[in-house]
Amino acid sequence: MSIAGNITQIKKSLPKGVTLVAVSKFHPVEALTEAYEAGQRIFGESRAQELKAKQAVLPNDIEWHFIGPLQSNKVKDMAAYIHTIHSIDSLKLLQEVNKQALKHNRIIQVLLEIHVAKEESKHGFSAEEVRKLLANEEWKTLTHIRISGLIGMATFTEDENQVRSEFRQLKELFDSIRKTYFPDDPEFSTLSMGMSDDYPIAIAEGSTMIRVGSKIFGER
Ligand SMILES: *Cc1c(COP(=O)(O)O)cnc(C)c1O
Repeated sequence: MSIAGNITQIKKSLPKGVTLVAVSKFHPVEALTEAYEAGQRIFGESRAQELKAKQAVLPNDIEWHFIGPLQSNKVKDMAAYIHTIHSIDSLKLLQEVNKQALKHNRIIQVLLEIHVAKEESKHGFSAEEVRKLLANEEWKTLTHIRISGLIGMATFTEDENQVRSEFRQLKELFDSIRKTYFPDDPEFSTLSMGMSDDYPIAIAEGSTMIRVGSKIFGER
């Protein structure tokens, strides 16, 4: 099927309250244009250089999400326009995003990345680490970021029960963190989980934002 057809089909299947991020990394501008013309406005990219090149030539009403590992020194390249950064895994990075957002007099939304998958990864907080970050009030002094939720990835496995149980853990952590640290903050509302192969499970477990690449644009 076409990119437009894929988007229409996925969107039709989404319950209310679930947002689709079209993950366009490694795909050419023409592919994004086709998605844009089908009505898609939220795109996810994972490399700073590639994001910069695409943002420069695509329409201004696109909401860009950065979903890849992010080095502090790359934040300034996207600070003028990035809508949401999904890959916050340290206080240092959060501080840098705040600093760069301040320079542009804007607020950048961020998601805290949680590591639940079995694979070894340098990225993402454990449940304990994210609680420690939020219990320390330092982040509250950061006026130009808005923590709008959590993101996590399940283990890459055929075992659906494993995937489901990891998404469930994320959802439980999300609910608990919201209750403890954001009780009066309706903006803390995003649980970004689910990709091409597992988004139906993620949605069943409470995802509010799915990040879909290959099911829209084909294999990379
Ligand atoms: C590449 C990527 C996706 C999309 O993966 P697909 O399997 O192609 O849907 C989603 N989230 C993150 C963080 C990614 O890096």
